Amino acid sequence: MTHWAMVIDLRQCIGCGTCAVACSQANNIKKNYWRKVIEFAGPQPPQRERFFLTISCMHCQNPPCRDVCPTTATYQRSDGIVTIDFEKCIGCSYCIMACPYHAREIFKGEVDFEESSDATTQKHFGQDELKDYTGVCTKCTFCLPRVEKGISKGLIPGKDKEATPMCVVSCSCGALHFGNLDDPESIVVKLLKENQHMRLSEELETEPSVYYII
Ligand code: SF4
Ligand code: SF4
Repeated sequence: MTHWAMVIDLRQCIGCGTCAVACSQANNIKKNYWRKVIEFAGPQPPQRERFFLTISCMHCQNPPCRDVCPTTATYQRSDGIVTIDFEKCIGCSYCIMACPYHAREIFKGEVDFEESSDATTQKHFGQDELKDYTGVCTKCTFCLPRVEKGISKGLIPGKDKEATPMCVVSCSCGALHFGNLDDPESIVVKLLKENQHMRLSEELETEPSVYYII
């Protein structure tokens, strides 16, 4: 079985924001941010003066966004990734209200002053087709098109860069890791075994697939 997951080592993050920019570039979402880096305002962990939290969709195994979607546009794959069928999404925003992690946004389009008036018809979200997705709901997909293309070439997501989410590839501090939770040899399993970790808002029982080493 496969359960794609992310492990974020907060001890390594310096808050540079490269992962957020890489996400925005890779998915061609210049005016949306699926990944954000927040400076944590609460008490700092021991030995640290500043503390940054990089967040995006948690790919919950019990996702409230899916449960409220009236068109079944939001769905969960057998590999754990929660994604959106953009053809079915009517932009009602129910899922935005239901997500406790503020991970979703309506796609605002990409009209640029230098570009023609039909500039919204572009390739977005790592997909190959030219399309205007303005008005649909969007969020981090764990770079699903990239992961799938990599797998089709026999590559291993989390190990081979070409098959790994761009935020993970872009982080020069080694804070972000991706892999299969069901594979005992994967980097994510090894990191979770060796380090103290937590998930955000576990009391909500959403079962996030994103883990933080603290
Ligand atoms: Fe932190 Fe790495 Fe993102 Fe920079 S790129 S903010 S170090 S996770
Ligand atoms: Fe859905 Fe939000 Fe969980 Fe992502 S973080 S799966 S958008 S509830």
